Amino acid sequence: MAVPKKKTSKSRRDMRRSHHALTNVVSVECPNCGEVKLPHHVCGSCGHYDGREVVVAQVEA
Ligand SMILES: [Zn+2]
Repeated sequence: MAVPKKKTSKSRRDMRRSHHALTNVVSVECPNCGEVKLPHHVCGSCGHYDGREVVVAQVEA
């Protein structure tokens, strides 16, 4: 098994973790049904994108 030769310093550890921050999830309202959706994505509830139906909406059982 590979074993680190030296203990990782607090500085190195924290520098590595400087990229771990989470970003806010961006969301927009669907212009067709008003449901919250991701921008530039087909609406998950009505299947519309760019003013027309792209995917037939799934009816939840
Ligand atoms: Zn929609």
